[in-house]
Amino acid sequence: MSDPIFERIAIVGAGLIGSSIARAATAYGAAGSVSLYDASDDVRARAEGLDLGNVTATLADAVQDADCVILCVPVGALAPVAKAAVAHMKPGAILTDVGSVKKQAAEALISADNGAVLIIPGHPIAGTEQSGPEAGFPTLFKGAWHILTPQDGKDAVYADAVQKLTDFWTALGAKVETMDPARHDRVLAITSHLPHLIAFNIVSTAFDMETVEEGEVVKFSAGGFRDFTRIAASDPVMWRDVFLNNKEAVLECLGRFSEDLAALQRAIRWGDGDFLMQEFTRARTIRKAVIDAGQDSGAVNFGRNQNGVKDGG
Ligand code: NAP
Repeated sequence: MSDPIFERIAIVGAGLIGSSIARAATAYGAAGSVSLYDASDDVRARAEGLDLGNVTATLADAVQDADCVILCVPVGALAPVAKAAVAHMKPGAILTDVGSVKKQAAEALISADNGAVLIIPGHPIAGTEQSGPEAGFPTLFKGAWHILTPQDGKDAVYADAVQKLTDFWTALGAKVETMDPARHDRVLAITSHLPHLIAFNIVSTAFDMETVEEGEVVKFSAGGFRDFTRIAASDPVMWRDVFLNNKEAVLECLGRFSEDLAALQRAIRWGDGDFLMQEFTRARTIRKAVIDAGQDSGAVNFGRNQNGVKDGG
């Protein structure tokens, strides 16, 4: 195995993403050692039992000797956690995150800048509907995109750090791309945030109807509904923070979505089969494009495998 990219990394937030990074960094030799800290006593105890690395009692203990600190907490918690981490990080170390929203996350990290650390926000487009340290697995990032949103106008030292972080995520199996944070948030609003909102909404509507239909919504859920329930089982805290922090882009997508939905509603009402055919045929070509781009499997059973389905919130 070649030399690790970082001698020592620290992960703050030992849930699905944090524990997956810990597992992958160790499994693929991307880090010489891994320290983990989580605010929850219970999560720390569970992480210790899973042998994910050196679980520390304080945030300071985890980050103080790290070459790279990766914040894996909900987006709403990033600002105070970044501030607390930077206070104990060594000069020249990298501070990054995995938050699903990038404009607010970047602002949160940059607001903690003390001029001694190198701040490079990031987001792996890989995940599942599960949470907690037990839910992670080392292959989560294999073949997935990892988006970095580096700051503009920085020096050569910063550029080297961006390259090092790129090498780290590449070693974990990801394909790395850099992007402007606002553009990231517009793209993810339609590819991830709106689909989750629709799933939360359809499950909520069905939940209300469930009492009317006496259990039949769940009984016959294989008709399509069950796939929405999987997405809607995602962590409520994470998704609350995504919507609160990517408000504008999500509302813009939602406006367009509502118009298109109204057009379908009109076509059903007036029996416009041609319009329905045209829209459904177009949708089918997009599914093919997603499979051709390697973003899902064309296998039956919805491409599920033993590691679960990768969504990327
Ligand atoms: P998770 O499994 O719930 O893990 C988050 C962990 O952070 C929890 O153990 C939580 O503890 C802990 N935490 C919360 N506040 C903290 C604080 N102030 N200091 C230290 N630890 C704290 O969530 P996740 O799915 O890994 O998501 C983590 C981040 O990854 C989020 O920013 C999310 O947007 C991003 N992300 C998620 C996905 C996905 O599909 N899940 C994909 C890509 C990126 P408690 O549970 O006790 O609060």
